[in-house]
Amino acid sequence: MTGTQLRPPIPLVDVDSAPWWEALKAGTFTVDRCQECRRWAHPPLERCRTCGGQNTLEPVSGQGRIFSFIVVRHQSLPGLVPPYVVAIVELDEQDGLRVTGIVRADPEAVSIGGRVSARIDPIGDSGYSAPAFELTPQSDPASPTHALICEAPEEGPTDGGSPTSLLGRPT
Ligand SMILES: [Zn+2]
Repeated sequence: MTGTQLRPPIPLVDVDSAPWWEALKAGTFTVDRCQECRRWAHPPLERCRTCGGQNTLEPVSGQGRIFSFIVVRHQSLPGLVPPYVVAIVELDEQDGLRVTGIVRADPEAVSIGGRVSARIDPIGDSGYSAPAFELTPQSDPASPTHALICEAPEEGPTDGGSPTSLLGRPT
């Protein structure tokens, strides 16, 4: 029964995304950035959507917050055992710069606004790799980032120790 193990799907690489996948193979998480107006853009595209300038891949921090997510509870793809979380992550580099990836965490611990950091996971034995995310421990447990969704900010002076802005982003 061992030779029949199913493998996860591999990327459908095209002329625009090939350099991005190659960078991931080499262990670098990159995103296209316009060499004229310096805006980031994802998914990869030869030209900037804002000014038409030339895009070039540049490394990103991999730091961001969960913009949205789903929990996959039924087997829908080979090689991926449910339950697992698929998230849209907004990277710190730019408002609206979003990438998708699996969050390697207990689904119960994942929340919108939660801080994550990227790692690069191999896709089975295909030779390809993809960004995945891990939860980043909160620096201030008294100010969970999901509070910006669920709760109004408290009145009065803060303790001055929280680096978390309304966007859940360290300042
Ligand atoms: Zn541009």
